[in-house]
Amino acid sequence: MSGPNSDYDPVEVTPLRAEQVEAMLDSALAAIEAADGLEELKRVRIEHTGDRSPLALANREIGALPPQARKDAGMRVGKARARVAQALGRRQQSLQAEHEARILVEEAVDVTLPWDREPVGARHPLSTIQERINDVFVAMGWEVAEGPEVEAEWLNFDALNLGPDHPARTMQDTFWLEPADGGLVLRTHTSPVQARTMLERTPPIYVICPGRVYRTDELDATHTPVFHQVEGLVVDKGISMAHLKGTLDHFAQAMFGEGITTRFRPDYFPFTEPSAEVDLVCFVCRGQSPALEHCRTCKGEGWIEWGGCGIVNPRVLVACGIDPDAYSGFAFGMGIERTLMFRNGIEDMRDIVEGDIRFTLPFGLEV
Ligand SMILES: [Zn+2]
Repeated sequence: MSGPNSDYDPVEVTPLRAEQVEAMLDSALAAIEAADGLEELKRVRIEHTGDRSPLALANREIGALPPQARKDAGMRVGKARARVAQALGRRQQSLQAEHEARILVEEAVDVTLPWDREPVGARHPLSTIQERINDVFVAMGWEVAEGPEVEAEWLNFDALNLGPDHPARTMQDTFWLEPADGGLVLRTHTSPVQARTMLERTPPIYVICPGRVYRTDELDATHTPVFHQVEGLVVDKGISMAHLKGTLDHFAQAMFGEGITTRFRPDYFPFTEPSAEVDLVCFVCRGQSPALEHCRTCKGEGWIEWGGCGIVNPRVLVACGIDPDAYSGFAFGMGIERTLMFRNGIEDMRDIVEGDIRFTLPFGLEV
Protein backbone atom coordinates (compact mmCIF):
# COMPACT_ATOMS: atom_id res chain seq x y z
CA MET A 1 0.00 0.00 0.00
CA SER A 2 1.20 3.50 -0.79
CA GLY A 3 2.59 5.58 2.00
CA PRO A 4 0.80 8.58 3.44
CA ASN A 5 1.57 12.13 2.38
CA SER A 6 0.27 15.54 3.31
CA ASP A 7 -2.95 15.26 1.21
CA TYR A 8 -3.75 11.81 2.46
CA ASP A 9 -6.78 11.56 4.69
CA PRO A 10 -6.72 8.17 6.44
CA VAL A 11 -10.43 8.36 7.39
CA GLU A 12 -11.58 8.56 3.78
CA VAL A 13 -9.48 5.71 2.50
CA THR A 14 -10.27 3.33 5.32
CA PRO A 15 -12.89 1.34 3.34
CA LEU A 16 -10.45 0.76 0.54
CA ARG A 17 -8.00 -1.39 2.45
CA ALA A 18 -7.63 -4.83 0.89
CA GLU A 19 -9.20 -6.76 3.75
CA GLN A 20 -12.18 -4.43 3.85
CA VAL A 21 -12.87 -4.75 0.13
CA GLU A 22 -12.47 -8.48 0.63
CA ALA A 23 -15.05 -8.37 3.45
CA MET A 24 -17.53 -6.46 1.24
CA LEU A 25 -17.03 -9.02 -1.51
CA ASP A 26 -17.47 -11.97 0.88
CA SER A 27 -20.62 -10.49 2.34
CA ALA A 28 -22.06 -9.89 -1.16
CA LEU A 29 -21.19 -13.40 -2.38
CA ALA A 30 -22.65 -14.97 0.77
CA ALA A 31 -25.89 -12.99 0.37
CA ILE A 32 -26.15 -13.99 -3.30
CA GLU A 33 -25.62 -17.64 -2.44
CA ALA A 34 -28.18 -17.45 0.35
CA ALA A 35 -30.87 -15.86 -1.82
CA ASP A 36 -33.44 -18.62 -2.34
CA GLY A 37 -35.82 -16.87 -4.68
CA LEU A 38 -35.90 -14.32 -7.48
CA GLU A 39 -37.49 -11.70 -5.23
CA GLU A 40 -34.84 -12.23 -2.59
CA LEU A 41 -32.09 -11.99 -5.22
CA LYS A 42 -33.52 -8.72 -6.44
CA ARG A 43 -33.23 -7.32 -2.92
CA VAL A 44 -29.63 -8.63 -2.63
CA ARG A 45 -28.76 -7.04 -5.99
CA ILE A 46 -29.89 -3.62 -4.80
CA GLU A 47 -28.17 -4.04 -1.46
CA HIS A 48 -24.78 -5.04 -2.93
CA THR A 49 -24.61 -3.33 -6.32
CA GLY A 50 -26.98 -0.38 -5.93
CA ASP A 51 -25.88 3.24 -5.58
CA ARG A 52 -25.85 2.95 -1.78
CA SER A 53 -24.05 -0.42 -1.66
CA PRO A 54 -20.63 -0.58 0.13
CA LEU A 55 -18.76 -1.41 -3.11
CA ALA A 56 -20.39 1.46 -5.02
CA LEU A 57 -19.55 3.87 -2.20
CA ALA A 58 -15.97 2.52 -2.16
CA ASN A 59 -15.73 3.01 -5.91
CA ARG A 60 -16.80 6.61 -5.51
CA GLU A 61 -14.03 7.22 -2.98
CA ILE A 62 -11.24 6.10 -5.34
CA GLY A 63 -11.14 9.55 -6.92
CA ALA A 64 -10.30 11.08 -3.54
CA LEU A 65 -7.22 8.90 -3.08
CA PRO A 66 -3.75 10.15 -3.76
CA PRO A 67 -2.55 9.12 -7.26
CA GLN A 68 -0.27 6.37 -5.97
CA ALA A 69 -3.10 4.65 -4.11
CA ARG A 70 -5.73 5.11 -6.87
CA LYS A 71 -4.53 2.35 -9.19
CA ASP A 72 -4.39 -0.40 -6.58
CA ALA A 73 -7.65 0.54 -5.00
CA GLY A 74 -9.30 0.86 -8.44
CA MET A 75 -8.22 -2.64 -9.42
CA ARG A 76 -9.32 -4.14 -6.12
CA VAL A 77 -12.76 -2.56 -6.10
CA GLY A 78 -13.22 -3.18 -9.85
CA LYS A 79 -12.40 -6.87 -9.51
CA ALA A 80 -14.68 -7.22 -6.50
CA ARG A 81 -17.58 -5.56 -8.37
CA ALA A 82 -16.99 -7.80 -11.39
CA ARG A 83 -17.09 -10.93 -9.22
CA VAL A 84 -20.31 -9.77 -7.57
CA ALA A 85 -21.90 -9.13 -10.98
CA GLN A 86 -20.79 -12.54 -12.21
CA ALA A 87 -22.14 -14.30 -9.12
CA LEU A 88 -25.45 -12.43 -9.45
CA GLY A 89 -25.76 -13.50 -13.09
CA ARG A 90 -25.14 -17.16 -12.26
CA ARG A 91 -27.53 -17.14 -9.29
CA GLN A 92 -30.19 -15.38 -11.38
CA GLN A 93 -29.90 -18.08 -14.04
CA SER A 94 -30.15 -20.97 -11.64
CA LEU A 95 -33.06 -19.44 -9.67
CA GLN A 96 -34.88 -18.68 -12.92
CA ALA A 97 -34.46 -22.30 -14.01
CA GLU A 98 -35.72 -23.57 -10.62
CA HIS A 99 -38.70 -21.22 -10.84
CA GLU A 100 -39.63 -22.43 -14.32
CA ALA A 101 -39.23 -26.07 -13.33
CA ARG A 102 -41.49 -25.51 -10.32
CA ILE A 103 -44.17 -23.79 -12.45
CA LEU A 104 -44.12 -26.71 -14.85
CA VAL A 105 -44.87 -29.05 -11.96
CA GLU A 106 -47.32 -26.84 -10.07
CA GLU A 107 -49.33 -25.70 -13.05
CA ALA A 108 -49.36 -28.97 -14.89
CA VAL A 109 -52.81 -29.91 -16.17
CA ASP A 110 -53.78 -33.48 -15.57
CA VAL A 111 -55.83 -34.22 -18.64
CA THR A 112 -57.00 -37.49 -17.14
CA LEU A 113 -58.92 -35.75 -14.28
CA PRO A 114 -62.72 -35.84 -14.60
CA TRP A 115 -63.98 -32.44 -15.86
CA ASP A 116 -67.74 -32.68 -15.53
CA ARG A 117 -68.29 -33.05 -11.79
CA GLU A 118 -70.08 -29.67 -11.67
CA PRO A 119 -73.44 -30.28 -13.32
CA VAL A 120 -74.45 -27.62 -15.83
CA GLY A 121 -77.70 -25.83 -15.04
CA ALA A 122 -80.87 -26.34 -16.98
CA ARG A 123 -83.22 -23.81 -18.47
CA HIS A 124 -86.54 -23.69 -16.68
CA PRO A 125 -89.26 -25.62 -18.52
CA LEU A 126 -91.52 -22.54 -18.32
CA SER A 127 -88.96 -20.62 -20.38
CA THR A 128 -88.57 -23.32 -22.99
CA ILE A 129 -92.31 -23.87 -23.39
CA GLN A 130 -92.88 -20.11 -23.74
CA GLU A 131 -90.33 -19.99 -26.52
CA ARG A 132 -91.95 -22.98 -28.18
CA ILE A 133 -95.34 -21.24 -28.06
CA ASN A 134 -93.81 -18.05 -29.49
CA ASP A 135 -92.28 -20.11 -32.30
CA VAL A 136 -95.67 -21.57 -33.26
CA PHE A 137 -97.13 -18.09 -33.74
CA VAL A 138 -94.06 -16.35 -35.16
CA ALA A 139 -94.09 -19.07 -37.84
CA MET A 140 -97.57 -17.81 -38.80
CA GLY A 141 -96.31 -14.23 -39.06
CA TRP A 142 -97.48 -13.04 -35.64
CA GLU A 143 -95.43 -10.75 -33.42
CA VAL A 144 -94.48 -11.27 -29.78
CA ALA A 145 -95.64 -8.34 -27.59
CA GLU A 146 -94.52 -7.60 -24.05
CA GLY A 147 -95.58 -5.18 -21.34
CA PRO A 148 -94.78 -4.15 -17.76
CA GLU A 149 -95.70 -6.36 -14.80
CA VAL A 150 -96.55 -3.29 -12.70
CA GLU A 151 -99.53 -2.03 -14.63
CA ALA A 152 -101.96 0.87 -14.57
CA GLU A 153 -105.30 -0.08 -13.06
CA TRP A 154 -107.04 1.39 -16.10
CA LEU A 155 -105.17 -0.85 -18.55
CA ASN A 156 -105.51 -3.94 -16.35
CA PHE A 157 -109.28 -3.50 -15.83
CA ASP A 158 -111.19 -0.54 -17.32
CA ALA A 159 -109.82 -0.75 -20.85
CA LEU A 160 -110.81 -4.42 -20.89
CA ASN A 161 -114.43 -3.79 -19.93
CA LEU A 162 -113.85 -4.85 -16.32
CA GLY A 163 -115.92 -2.09 -14.70
CA PRO A 164 -115.31 -0.61 -11.24
CA ASP A 165 -117.73 -3.11 -9.67
CA HIS A 166 -116.21 -6.21 -11.24
CA PRO A 167 -115.33 -8.81 -8.57
CA ALA A 168 -111.82 -9.29 -9.99
CA ARG A 169 -110.96 -5.75 -8.86
CA THR A 170 -111.46 -6.42 -5.17
CA MET A 171 -108.52 -6.78 -2.83
CA GLN A 172 -109.06 -10.55 -2.75
CA ASP A 173 -107.66 -11.27 -6.21
CA THR A 174 -105.38 -8.36 -6.98
CA PHE A 175 -102.07 -7.18 -5.55
CA TRP A 176 -102.33 -3.38 -5.27
CA LEU A 177 -99.26 -1.23 -5.03
CA GLU A 178 -98.89 1.38 -2.29
CA PRO A 179 -100.35 3.92 -2.03
CA ALA A 180 -103.71 2.13 -2.27
CA ASP A 181 -105.24 4.91 -4.36
CA GLY A 182 -102.20 5.18 -6.67
CA GLY A 183 -103.90 3.24 -9.47
CA LEU A 184 -101.10 0.68 -9.89
CA VAL A 185 -101.46 -3.11 -9.69
CA LEU A 186 -99.34 -6.17 -10.35
CA ARG A 187 -101.04 -7.23 -13.57
CA THR A 188 -103.60 -9.98 -12.98
CA HIS A 189 -103.47 -11.16 -16.59
CA THR A 190 -101.50 -10.43 -19.78
CA SER A 191 -104.54 -8.73 -21.34
CA PRO A 192 -103.25 -5.18 -20.64
CA VAL A 193 -100.51 -5.96 -23.18
CA GLN A 194 -103.31 -6.41 -25.71
CA ALA A 195 -104.82 -3.07 -24.72
CA ARG A 196 -101.41 -1.42 -25.04
CA THR A 197 -100.90 -3.01 -28.45
CA MET A 198 -104.25 -1.75 -29.73
CA LEU A 199 -103.54 1.75 -28.39
CA GLU A 200 -100.10 1.87 -29.97
CA ARG A 201 -100.75 0.30 -33.36
CA THR A 202 -103.29 0.36 -36.10
CA PRO A 203 -104.81 -2.89 -37.40
CA PRO A 204 -104.08 -5.41 -38.76
CA ILE A 205 -102.77 -6.70 -35.41
CA TYR A 206 -101.52 -10.27 -34.87
CA VAL A 207 -99.75 -10.57 -31.53
CA ILE A 208 -98.95 -13.22 -28.96
CA CYS A 209 -98.30 -11.98 -25.39
CA PRO A 210 -96.63 -14.41 -22.99
CA GLY A 211 -95.70 -13.28 -19.49
CA ARG A 212 -95.84 -13.40 -15.73
CA VAL A 213 -99.03 -12.46 -13.89
CA TYR A 214 -100.01 -12.13 -10.22
CA ARG A 215 -103.03 -13.05 -8.12
CA THR A 216 -103.49 -13.31 -4.38
CA ASP A 217 -103.70 -17.13 -4.39
CA GLU A 218 -102.03 -19.41 -1.88
CA LEU A 219 -99.46 -21.84 -3.30
CA ASP A 220 -100.90 -25.32 -3.57
CA ALA A 221 -100.96 -28.20 -6.07
CA THR A 222 -103.02 -26.24 -8.62
CA HIS A 223 -102.49 -22.56 -7.66
CA THR A 224 -99.57 -20.19 -7.35
CA PRO A 225 -99.61 -16.41 -6.68
CA VAL A 226 -97.21 -15.86 -9.60
CA PHE A 227 -97.91 -17.70 -12.80
CA HIS A 228 -97.62 -17.33 -16.57
CA GLN A 229 -100.16 -16.73 -19.25
CA VAL A 230 -100.07 -16.56 -22.97
CA GLU A 231 -102.66 -14.49 -24.74
CA GLY A 232 -103.25 -14.01 -28.41
CA LEU A 233 -104.95 -11.09 -30.11
CA VAL A 234 -105.99 -10.54 -33.69
CA VAL A 235 -107.68 -7.38 -34.98
CA ASP A 236 -108.33 -7.21 -38.69
CA LYS A 237 -111.16 -6.82 -41.20
CA GLY A 238 -113.72 -9.64 -41.25
CA ILE A 239 -112.32 -11.69 -38.37
CA SER A 240 -114.73 -14.35 -37.16
CA MET A 241 -115.09 -17.23 -34.71
CA ALA A 242 -113.95 -19.57 -37.52
CA HIS A 243 -110.51 -17.90 -37.63
CA LEU A 244 -110.28 -18.29 -33.84
CA LYS A 245 -111.18 -21.99 -33.99
CA GLY A 246 -108.67 -22.69 -36.77
CA THR A 247 -105.89 -20.85 -34.90
CA LEU A 248 -106.52 -22.73 -31.65
CA ASP A 249 -106.70 -26.11 -33.41
CA HIS A 250 -103.32 -25.38 -34.97
CA PHE A 251 -101.90 -24.23 -31.61
CA ALA A 252 -103.24 -27.39 -29.87
CA GLN A 253 -101.68 -29.69 -32.44
CA ALA A 254 -98.36 -27.86 -32.28
CA MET A 255 -98.28 -28.29 -28.50
CA PHE A 256 -99.88 -31.70 -28.00
CA GLY A 257 -99.52 -33.56 -31.27
CA GLU A 258 -101.34 -34.53 -34.43
CA GLY A 259 -105.11 -34.97 -34.16
CA ILE A 260 -105.57 -32.96 -30.93
CA THR A 261 -108.42 -30.56 -31.68
CA THR A 262 -110.37 -28.10 -29.58
CA ARG A 263 -114.01 -27.52 -28.77
CA PHE A 264 -115.70 -24.37 -27.51
CA ARG A 265 -118.23 -24.15 -24.69
CA PRO A 266 -120.17 -20.89 -24.23
CA ASP A 267 -118.93 -18.79 -21.33
CA TYR A 268 -118.70 -15.19 -20.22
CA PHE A 269 -115.64 -12.90 -20.13
CA PRO A 270 -115.95 -9.10 -20.02
CA PHE A 271 -113.18 -8.75 -22.60
CA THR A 272 -114.92 -10.81 -25.30
CA GLU A 273 -118.43 -11.26 -26.69
CA PRO A 274 -119.32 -13.98 -27.50
CA SER A 275 -116.95 -15.86 -25.21
CA ALA A 276 -116.07 -19.54 -24.89
CA GLU A 277 -114.08 -21.96 -22.78
CA VAL A 278 -111.55 -23.91 -24.84
CA ASP A 279 -111.30 -27.67 -24.28
CA LEU A 280 -108.70 -29.99 -25.77
CA VAL A 281 -109.30 -33.52 -26.89
CA CYS A 282 -107.64 -35.54 -24.12
CA PHE A 283 -104.23 -36.41 -25.53
CA VAL A 284 -103.99 -39.53 -23.36
CA CYS A 285 -107.17 -41.36 -24.32
CA ARG A 286 -107.67 -39.23 -27.48
CA GLY A 287 -111.27 -38.57 -26.45
CA GLN A 288 -112.09 -42.28 -26.25
CA SER A 289 -112.41 -42.42 -22.45
CA PRO A 290 -116.20 -42.43 -22.17
CA ALA A 291 -116.35 -45.50 -24.40
CA LEU A 292 -113.16 -47.24 -23.28
CA GLU A 293 -111.73 -47.71 -19.79
CA HIS A 294 -111.71 -44.73 -17.40
CA CYS A 295 -108.97 -42.17 -18.23
CA ARG A 296 -107.30 -40.50 -15.24
CA THR A 297 -106.09 -37.45 -17.18
CA CYS A 298 -109.52 -36.27 -18.33
CA LYS A 299 -111.43 -38.07 -15.57
CA GLY A 300 -113.42 -39.96 -18.20
CA GLU A 301 -114.59 -36.79 -19.96
CA GLY A 302 -112.55 -37.21 -23.13
CA TRP A 303 -111.83 -33.43 -22.99
CA ILE A 304 -109.57 -31.20 -20.90
CA GLU A 305 -110.24 -27.54 -20.09
CA TRP A 306 -107.40 -25.43 -21.53
CA GLY A 307 -108.29 -21.72 -21.52
CA GLY A 308 -110.70 -19.01 -22.57
CA CYS A 309 -111.37 -17.18 -25.82
CA GLY A 310 -113.84 -15.13 -27.79
CA ILE A 311 -114.53 -12.32 -30.20
CA VAL A 312 -113.11 -9.03 -28.88
CA ASN A 313 -115.93 -7.02 -27.28
CA PRO A 314 -116.61 -3.92 -29.41
CA ARG A 315 -116.50 -1.83 -26.21
CA VAL A 316 -112.85 -2.87 -25.77
CA LEU A 317 -112.09 -1.89 -29.37
CA VAL A 318 -113.67 1.53 -28.75
CA ALA A 319 -111.76 2.01 -25.47
CA CYS A 320 -108.54 1.30 -27.38
CA GLY A 321 -109.32 3.66 -30.23
CA ILE A 322 -110.30 1.12 -32.91
CA ASP A 323 -113.47 1.52 -35.01
CA PRO A 324 -115.63 -1.57 -34.29
CA ASP A 325 -117.60 -1.03 -37.51
CA ALA A 326 -114.46 -1.43 -39.62
CA TYR A 327 -112.59 -4.05 -37.59
CA SER A 328 -113.27 -7.12 -35.53
CA GLY A 329 -110.94 -9.40 -33.64
CA PHE A 330 -110.49 -12.46 -31.51
CA ALA A 331 -108.53 -13.12 -28.35
CA PHE A 332 -107.61 -16.17 -26.33
CA GLY A 333 -105.65 -16.90 -23.19
CA MET A 334 -104.10 -19.99 -21.61
CA GLY A 335 -102.15 -20.67 -18.46
CA ILE A 336 -98.62 -21.70 -19.38
CA GLU A 337 -98.16 -23.76 -16.19
CA ARG A 338 -101.39 -25.61 -17.00
CA THR A 339 -100.22 -26.22 -20.57
CA LEU A 340 -96.88 -27.51 -19.29
CA MET A 341 -98.61 -29.76 -16.74
CA PHE A 342 -100.82 -31.31 -19.44
CA ARG A 343 -98.05 -31.65 -21.91
CA ASN A 344 -95.54 -33.25 -19.57
CA GLY A 345 -97.78 -35.03 -17.07
CA ILE A 346 -96.81 -32.80 -14.11
CA GLU A 347 -99.28 -33.28 -11.29
CA ASP A 348 -98.18 -30.71 -8.72
CA MET A 349 -97.69 -27.04 -9.62
CA ARG A 350 -95.29 -26.65 -6.69
CA ASP A 351 -92.74 -28.74 -8.61
CA ILE A 352 -92.66 -25.99 -11.25
CA VAL A 353 -92.01 -23.12 -8.82
CA GLU A 354 -89.66 -24.73 -6.32
CA GLY A 355 -86.67 -24.70 -8.64
CA ASP A 356 -85.33 -28.18 -7.82
CA ILE A 357 -82.78 -29.02 -10.49
CA ARG A 358 -83.83 -32.69 -10.41
CA PHE A 359 -87.16 -31.49 -11.79
CA THR A 360 -85.89 -28.97 -14.34
CA LEU A 361 -82.92 -30.97 -15.67
CA PRO A 362 -84.81 -33.38 -17.95
CA PHE A 363 -86.70 -30.42 -19.46
CA GLY A 364 -83.55 -28.35 -19.81
CA LEU A 365 -82.06 -30.99 -22.04
CA GLU A 366 -84.92 -30.52 -24.46
CA VAL A 367 -83.68 -28.67 -27.53
ZN1 LIG B 1 -108.55 -38.93 -21.35
